[in-house]
Amino acid sequence: MKKITIAIDGYSSCGKSTMAKALARNIGYLYFDSGAMYRAVALYSMQNGIITAEGIDKERLREEIGNIKITFCADEETKNSITYLNGVNVEKEIRSLEVSQQVSHVAALDFVRAALIEQQREMGKAKGIVMDGRDIGTTVFPNAELKIFVTASAEVRAKRRYDELVARGDNLDYNDILANVIERDHIDRTREVSPLRQAEDALLLDNSEMTIEGQLEWLKEQFKQRTAE
Ligand code: C5P
Repeated sequence: MKKITIAIDGYSSCGKSTMAKALARNIGYLYFDSGAMYRAVALYSMQNGIITAEGIDKERLREEIGNIKITFCADEETKNSITYLNGVNVEKEIRSLEVSQQVSHVAALDFVRAALIEQQREMGKAKGIVMDGRDIGTTVFPNAELKIFVTASAEVRAKRRYDELVARGDNLDYNDILANVIERDHIDRTREVSPLRQAEDALLLDNSEMTIEGQLEWLKEQFKQRTAE
């Protein structure tokens, strides 16, 4: 069967990665989380004094972007993808609220996007991948054979994120998460470079009322149709 490229874009915390991972595993494709790459750049900037209370030192980040190496490796037991920043496992740190509060500012910088898009295209060269993010179907892989644009209400998304962070032991206020989801949506939608938007040929999926199993079934059906064409 011919291999295709699957792009899953959409708003923050709408379960894109859960469904992208499940689909990839089900159809034997590789999964790439492009948001983890922007998160890793934000974490690097926080750890190295590039992001401070005064903001982002853009010139330093521009100089150092070439030294930021992001790789993915599958966890032996769970088979889940783990993000490495310059060889160090940062999977847990990049999901913190502190990183979430900085990441959209970093992701709005043109030179950061150019560097990461180049790496993302390299990862998808051989097709047979599912990549999720904000601009995968519009900018990274405009020729992807299957494009999905996912959305759900901000409250539903904040609740999902809250449950996820509480489950891993973080002590947080739901309202802070909701404010972060709304702020990231705004920055992602209104930035000049590669803003978040639905590609013309993307299928819209509102999963506010859908179960994870229901979404996987729907996605598998779309995949079947695209690969049979
Ligand atoms: O998907 P996730 O929420 O982990 O992404 C974190 C942030 O990275 C997003 O809020 C967005 O600002 C940025 N991002 C992006 N383009 C992508 C993926 C993520 O700008 N392709």
